Amino acid sequence: MRVAVIGAGIVGVTTAQALREDGHEVAVFERRGSVATEASFANAGFLAPGYVTPWASPDMPRKVMSQFFARDAAVRLAGVPGPALLSWLRQWKRACEPSLYAKNRDAMLRLAQHSLARTKALAQKHQLEYEQGQGALVLLRDSEEIAQVRAGLKLLAESDLDFHLVDAAACRRIEPALEQATQLVAGVHHPQAGIGNCRQFALQLKAVLQADGVVFHMQREVTRLDAGERSVTVHSVTADVHADSALERGPRVFDEPPSVESFDEVIVCAAVGAPALLSSLRVRLPIQAVYGYSITLPVRHFEAYPDMGPRAALMDERFKVAITRLGDRVRIAGSAELGGKPDEMREAPIATLYRVLQDWFPAAARQAHAQTWKGARPMLPDGPPAIGASSVPHLWINSGHGSSGWALACGSARLTADLIAGRSPALDAAAFSPQRW
Ligand SMILES: Cc1cc2nc3c(=O)[nH]c(=O)nc-3n(C[C@H](O)[C@H](O)[C@H](O)COP(=O)(O)OP(=O)(O)OC[C@H]3O[C@@H](n4cnc5c(N)ncnc54)[C@H](O)[C@@H]3O)c2cc1C
Repeated sequence: MRVAVIGAGIVGVTTAQALREDGHEVAVFERRGSVATEASFANAGFLAPGYVTPWASPDMPRKVMSQFFARDAAVRLAGVPGPALLSWLRQWKRACEPSLYAKNRDAMLRLAQHSLARTKALAQKHQLEYEQGQGALVLLRDSEEIAQVRAGLKLLAESDLDFHLVDAAACRRIEPALEQATQLVAGVHHPQAGIGNCRQFALQLKAVLQADGVVFHMQREVTRLDAGERSVTVHSVTADVHADSALERGPRVFDEPPSVESFDEVIVCAAVGAPALLSSLRVRLPIQAVYGYSITLPVRHFEAYPDMGPRAALMDERFKVAITRLGDRVRIAGSAELGGKPDEMREAPIATLYRVLQDWFPAAARQAHAQTWKGARPMLPDGPPAIGASSVPHLWINSGHGSSGWALACGSARLTADLIAGRSPALDAAAFSPQRW
């Protein structure tokens, strides 16, 4: 079949791979000048199934309300929420109901496990180098934090995931450079969790796919989709990406007639760009941009001293800030901002990232060479991404992966391709239905 994938973030690129693997003729449309330039650009790099969980959880409303106005808050409201955000927040609150949360968490965990295995297999098959590492440690600063994670650990214990609640001394053996002076009472170690540079993976996979005949239409913005009986028509125009920066959004569109092409099947992997594209076909997808920040710094080396940075991945549970080793660099990522603008860098969340790095690895990196980034998590209110058929024939969706798109991408791609082929997928697709709204 001739299939089109719209969007070349990590989800679009991996979807193109799964479709090509099934023997389809694949064309990818991407409005930016390169793949993985939006949400997939500089994320924390966690591929940790044990940490993949819906934000809509029973204790989240209380946590969010208590933090909204705190300086180091993990979740912030930027400005006055508009009607779309208010409606999204209402749906999110409903999905925090314990039985819905447990169902969604289970579905996401299974998808993440499937995805991690596929990510590793793909990397091995195509010899992808993406600054990969292994192991994630969740840092718990006091006994209250241990109590807070216990319910989640109980759910994890019902899966076949390998994880251990360990004391502070064991944490320091796992990560020897952890600052001694910072209070630490315990940690949750996920030894099998993966780590990796998402953008690098996407770039390398794109090269593999191009060599295999997948066509990438870069700087092509899809402006309209028309539904036909046997196909979907894609209208696209040239997008002027005047700088290859993940912070510059909304490319200027040249005044030109759109190019129009029909495909047997079209898959929308456009993340925060998906709702606008789908609305012309009256397909509703309540994705909200939840902004986060990261800072990437080169690890500092002293001749006479050992490496002062992290070995693998860490999550500071109090601040919900990740610290990840990516090759010779360290990346600190976190914060969740509802509302606001993609190119508006706020000082407080960036200060929190530096504070957490200072708490745990004060001598690890040089601030002078910092690369600071803000990206939009494409978040659905209940948690699981939307994967599967839309209400329009031949139009499919693989979007809305929220805070876990890298960890879920390869599995979501396989699930999408299996559903398009009419095959029984490796896991139950019901929780991911794009028609659940
Ligand atoms: C601070 C931060 C830390 C994170 N850490 C992690 C982590 O550790 N692990 C993890 O798993 N996830 C993490 N995430 C989430 C993860 O980065 C995202 O879920 C993932 O990148 C989403 O991928 P995507 O391909 O769906 O979206 P994107 O990468 O945004 O790709 C969508 C693409 O569609 C294109 N597009 C949109 N509309 C159109 C159109 N009309 N025409 C053509 N192209 C279009 C866009 O240009 C874009 O390239 C983090 C996110 C943030 C912000």
